Amino acid sequence: MAQIAKVIVDVPTMQTNNPYSYLIPPALANQIQIGMRVVVSFGRGSRKVQGMVVGIDNESSFEGQLKEIDAVMDLQPVLNPELLSLANYLAESTFAFTISAIQTILPNSLKAKYEKVLTPTDTIEEAARQKYFATQPDMIFDENKLSTEDVSELLRLRRTNQISISYVVQDRAKAKTQVVIERAMTTSQLEASLAEVRKGAVQQKKLLQLLMDANFQTISQPALIESTGISNATLKTAEEKGWIVRRRIEVRRDPFKREVAATRPLPLQAEQQTAVTAISEQIEQDRYQAFLLEGVTGSGKTEVYLQTMAKAIEKGKTALMLVPEISLTPQMVNRVKGRFGHEVAVLHSGLSDGEKYDEWRRIERGEARVVVGARSAVFAPLENIGIIIMDEEHESSYKQDESPRYHARDVALWRGRYHQAPVVLGSATPSLETRARAEKGLYTRLVLPHRINHQSLPEVSVVDMKDEIRNHKESNFSSQLLASIKEKLQRKEQVVLMLNRRGYSSFVMCRDCGFVLMCPNCDISLTLHMDSHSMKCHYCGHEEAIPTICPNCQSRKIRYYGTGTQKVEAELKDILPEARVLRMDVDTTRRKGAHEKLLQAFGQHEADILLGTQMIAKGLDFPNVTLVGVLNADTSLGIPDFRSSERTFQLLTQVSGRAGRAEKKGQVIIQTFNPEHYAIQLAKTQNYEQFFAYEMKLRHESNYPPYYYAIQITTSAATEADAAKGIFKIAKQIREHLSAQSIVLGPTPQTISKIKKRYYYQLIVKYKKEPALGNLLEKVLQESQKTGRTGLQVSINPNPVSFM
Ligand code: ADP
Ligand code: ZN
Ligand code: ZN
Repeated sequence: MAQIAKVIVDVPTMQTNNPYSYLIPPALANQIQIGMRVVVSFGRGSRKVQGMVVGIDNESSFEGQLKEIDAVMDLQPVLNPELLSLANYLAESTFAFTISAIQTILPNSLKAKYEKVLTPTDTIEEAARQKYFATQPDMIFDENKLSTEDVSELLRLRRTNQISISYVVQDRAKAKTQVVIERAMTTSQLEASLAEVRKGAVQQKKLLQLLMDANFQTISQPALIESTGISNATLKTAEEKGWIVRRRIEVRRDPFKREVAATRPLPLQAEQQTAVTAISEQIEQDRYQAFLLEGVTGSGKTEVYLQTMAKAIEKGKTALMLVPEISLTPQMVNRVKGRFGHEVAVLHSGLSDGEKYDEWRRIERGEARVVVGARSAVFAPLENIGIIIMDEEHESSYKQDESPRYHARDVALWRGRYHQAPVVLGSATPSLETRARAEKGLYTRLVLPHRINHQSLPEVSVVDMKDEIRNHKESNFSSQLLASIKEKLQRKEQVVLMLNRRGYSSFVMCRDCGFVLMCPNCDISLTLHMDSHSMKCHYCGHEEAIPTICPNCQSRKIRYYGTGTQKVEAELKDILPEARVLRMDVDTTRRKGAHEKLLQAFGQHEADILLGTQMIAKGLDFPNVTLVGVLNADTSLGIPDFRSSERTFQLLTQVSGRAGRAEKKGQVIIQTFNPEHYAIQLAKTQNYEQFFAYEMKLRHESNYPPYYYAIQITTSAATEADAAKGIFKIAKQIREHLSAQSIVLGPTPQTISKIKKRYYYQLIVKYKKEPALGNLLEKVLQESQKTGRTGLQVSINPNPVSFM
């Protein structure tokens, strides 16, 4: 009986979620497995396409002549059965195509070019060794060059562990290089230089002494800077004076990976203990249960995560921990590494494809049993998961805003159920959805109401900037905030200042005619970038020079508008010249590792003030910070979206939580033009429960989530008319089927209606129960496929995080 493989094919313009049947060539019978990728011919032109084997049958319901599989790409499955069925779930629940779900789950490097190198193991049969490895220690597997018989033979050898495979990624990124410092003078020359160095040049002296040391060896520049604190400027001077030379050399991946000091479990506080016990019980009994761990900032949620993960590991299982954004949470990663050491794999976007692939393989081989990572780490190929943690579960970065539009929380819950393991959603300010589910009893709510050692929450005051502006000249700093900063600095304490840039950008505007420089391709203003001295579009990357004359009225009064971190930094230096300020924003953290370095410097009190955008609101735990100032709380309130109050409350609570985390009491000052707004008033008392109750009432009154489900349907086309026509047609189709209880918003042009020369229209359906809606939308999506890539495109976004 011939074997038939069910294959999901990768055809971009004519996607379908149904697998196609292909004959397995007799030579490959019993060798091809589910989860392997194959090459097949598809369609009338018999184009060669890639596909994924998702099933193997002995018969086919297909009547006609079946084509044979052309080639096998993998010698072992790249997706296990769990991840394959997860792909199906993703496709169904997010209106995505199965193939794009599969591609989302696979690591990038498997999609990139790589070589499969086969090496014989000790158990290889002599005949096979003679045939393949007589003249070479290993061989490259190239499905296009080998005969089917050879492929079949190699598959068998692989399956019986007679050969092993390693994948060598031909990294798209250039080879990694690093600057090293070499000594360029003899010891006596250096001694002579030392005598000439000016008295106050402490760093230069330090460097010379280091170079004169008999044990000095060529050292990498970052390592030198990190271990000695000698600045880049000093190294530059040293090079000019001929003491050292700096050379760029190629390095292997991550040779200077820093070791993190090991930590031991802390004795738990009573409430932490209750939480750990409740979660551990589920681990013990292999039971799925979702928990909401609602703990105020500094209440020790992390310790609960660590000790429950340890429980799972102890039981021989694995643990998955999700964080909003790895680069923003280096402290969290270090805490996990400190507890689990080499068992930890970290997945994040800063890794090259090669590095990511290395981590992926370590996980797959069971060498790393603890995985920490951002959104896409939820697909880590862990087996036997014993616990899943999602820190800061309310963060919107957990939702992917391109297809498949999944929310990592849903995937985490799915995997928890699959593995019969508890899922812990932690936050000081849970999303309304999650808190409401806990209310309904779907999640078990665990509360940590106090800070560790009953340190009180910081005292928050609100400053009305309208009064300030009336009484003073225009400044980013109210007199109250300024006085507090001075006081803290005098006491050698540290200050965190946040500039809320959400929904806000620095653009260029003409003060005479109001002209704003816009992107020629997209419907948004261009943003000023001081470091590159240019105007850039955040959507399409368009870049142009900063105008000096208004293109509209020729006035010279066209200038920078709005408050950027650089401008605030300049003002701060003006008012407080003695303060040492570290600025943290997209510009200062662009380089890999820059974020971590800034935080480390601040942690070592190399600066008094950390000034940054909302990226500083997350997860920082610095005991010496006693004042947090929010310069402008309002900007995120102005975003036209139903979640803007929730986001503002969350942001203010998060950033307030950075103050007074150790023995010293914390203070928070929030500057705003809307002091009466409930999101700000309730952030002042840091009363999440009260905020939850109030916001739920508003959502109920206006039929928003979590009382209603929402689905956003978007059309886009090269002309505005086509996009509009498309959406109105869909609106008509949908309206015919909807129940009276459901609500349709729109169609309308999107808030940003033109991106990359395409026009966007949208429609939002709010509903409580529409069992037929899913199928209907599936049909709409399939129909839209017929128009191809260039015409109308339709995308469907279930449970959008915003309606914009
Ligand atoms: P959260 O994540 O809830 O904001 P953290 O986990 O960062 O809080 O804890 C705040 C601080 O309290 C950290 O410095 C942490 O090391 C410390 N801490 C946590 N649990 C304990 C404990 N049981 N005993 C002593 N210190 C603790
Ligand atoms: Zn643009
Ligand atoms: Zn003008």
